[in-house]
Amino acid sequence: MTENRPSKPQSGRQNLDPHLERYAARTAGMTASEIRALFAVASRPEVVSLAGGMPNLAALPLDTLSAQVAEIIAEDGLVALQYGSAHGVPVLREQICEIMALEGIKAHPDDVVVTVGSQMGLDMVTRLFCDPGDVVIAEGPSYVGALGSFAAYQAQVVHVAMDDQGLVPSLLREALDRTEKAGRRVKFLYTIPNFHNPAGVTLAVERRAEILEICREHGVLVVEDNPYGLLGFDGQTYPALRSTDPDNVVYLGSFSKTFASGLRVGWVLAPHAVREKLVLAAESATLCPPTFNQMIVSRYLATHDWKGQIKKFRENYRDRRDAMLSALEQYLPAGCSWTKPDGGFYVWVTVPEGVDTKAMLPRAVTARVAYASGTGFYADGFGSRQMRLSYCYPTPERIREGVRRLAAVLESEMDL
Ligand code: PMP
Repeated sequence: MTENRPSKPQSGRQNLDPHLERYAARTAGMTASEIRALFAVASRPEVVSLAGGMPNLAALPLDTLSAQVAEIIAEDGLVALQYGSAHGVPVLREQICEIMALEGIKAHPDDVVVTVGSQMGLDMVTRLFCDPGDVVIAEGPSYVGALGSFAAYQAQVVHVAMDDQGLVPSLLREALDRTEKAGRRVKFLYTIPNFHNPAGVTLAVERRAEILEICREHGVLVVEDNPYGLLGFDGQTYPALRSTDPDNVVYLGSFSKTFASGLRVGWVLAPHAVREKLVLAAESATLCPPTFNQMIVSRYLATHDWKGQIKKFRENYRDRRDAMLSALEQYLPAGCSWTKPDGGFYVWVTVPEGVDTKAMLPRAVTARVAYASGTGFYADGFGSRQMRLSYCYPTPERIREGVRRLAAVLESEMDL
């Protein structure tokens, strides 16, 4: 009997959680992201938060939406409030194919699996492909939620650097060669080609075919995450990687940035061969995505000028991007550099040597400005001279004030 008892807690930390001995090994990689930890302080009203990535929903037509929600219940309530298929509502999957066509993708609705946000797509794809110790190649820096999924399945991340044209193909090739020579198994390249989170850069169109080619040569799948693709400030779109290599690209899409993040509706467009496994993975995770929310999205797309709505969002974000870039130009001390996004939500700033953005953060919050320090966007501790600034949510005036405060903190840090 006694030998089966969990061993006694050894340290004070273990004493805090009596279940410590029971957790699965995979939970070791599950730690609160630096960004989440920041949320509480950064959301105090006196702090200008340039830290979070919350979409600005103010332009949404709430009256229209409220009428539509009531109509769904009145006309189709017993379907809307019932379980549905793990695959997703068929009409929405057709509409999703029309949206993806804007970026050159020809897809069959059967190959679309609706998810609870694209975050669930990331989780499912990692679950399907990664055993512990497998390698995922990702841009450095990369999306913090993706790094969380990779860690949760004990995949190892190898970062590949970007320049202002996005992921650098020659560095991708080197990383693949190096990793394979070390006997490691690379499962996929995870990439955010458009208006990158957090780097704010877009993969040059000329590089896209080369990157697909390199991945094919190495037998590596591509996971293309594209929540910001329709948020190019001039209305520009780029050909999706998926559009030219449908058999080797898993595409992740989302309504979070183009409609409403709280509805949690996203999708995965899988290569045809992967579709069935993906539906099974979705079924075991959630049985089905919320029928009601899918019907809200579907009706909105069918009855509302959603492209006009995206244009409003874009204009709103463009004004904020302009405010941020001009404030950075005006206030940031010499030696800082930053990316210049043409769409999306984020600017990636590099500060002078000697400044550690993670160590500086509490002082910035005291000075009533918050940002996301760079280390959270790397799996390997890099990024201490970087930070992500989001311009999506605060007003242009608040953005200017936030950057002014940040510059003052940076200056005093550089004097130390
Ligand atoms: N991928 C990227 C690059 C993102 O920035 C985000 C949201 N911040 C997601 C995925 C997750 O989005 P969703 O709300 O669809 O889960």
